[in-house]
Amino acid sequence: MLRLENLSVSIGGKRILDKLNISFGNGIHAVMGPNGSGKSTLAKAIMGLQEYSGSIYFEGKNIDKLSIEKRAQMGIFQLFQHTPHLPGISLFDIFRTLMKDKKPMEIMDMLEKASSKAGLNIAYITKPIDKTWSGGELKKAEMVQMLLLKPKIVISDEIDAGVDVDSLKRIMELIMESKAETVIFISHIPATIERLKPDGITVLKQGKVVAKGKMEMLEKIKKKGYEGF
Ligand code: ADP
Ligand code: MG
Repeated sequence: MLRLENLSVSIGGKRILDKLNISFGNGIHAVMGPNGSGKSTLAKAIMGLQEYSGSIYFEGKNIDKLSIEKRAQMGIFQLFQHTPHLPGISLFDIFRTLMKDKKPMEIMDMLEKASSKAGLNIAYITKPIDKTWSGGELKKAEMVQMLLLKPKIVISDEIDAGVDVDSLKRIMELIMESKAETVIFISHIPATIERLKPDGITVLKQGKVVAKGKMEMLEKIKKKGYEGF
């Protein structure tokens, strides 16, 4: 579904990602690694938020020249480690722009259903996504977008960083319910990955893939940390 070929990123002369070759097929893939190993940079490169060299193929098609918007339209969706605020713009505004063929009432109805699934107070649908939103509320807004956009690939970047355990559990359930064919789930926390039960685990360190494996990899990480790689 998604294939990275010699994917490299350099920023200010520093090599952040070094010739990554990874295939993410249908299923759930964990990407683990210590802080600063390049996990967020990898997510951004796939989404088109970060310049890179090498190639990314989505469903066999090279997407290197495609904008963020095009990649999103193709079905690539990112959940951010730090969800950006959108001052002056509400969920309703976003979906009115995206779904021009639908009546405002229909959009409101879809948003209300998705919000109650995501646990977001429906009063927030028309509220600008500004600094008054808590981390948990911002994550719920992202869930609403994910549920309505029905992406083919969800890239989830350390969503376990700023949410409580119950919210995390719910968010993980919703990612599974989204029916995305491929989930790339980034986390450095073994307990999160234990709960996720991914089909495969890729370990990044200093911008390189240092290990690929399955659940047994977690034992090594739990015992020796990332220093063991
Ligand atoms: P992770 O998500 O695994 O913690 P990141 O992808 O955020 O790692 O960062 C990897 C490395 O790249 C870090 O050393 C970080 O400081 C560096 N880095 C990331 N973005 C930038 C940037 N815009 N400018 C300079 N250095 C950056
Ligand atoms: Mg990160």
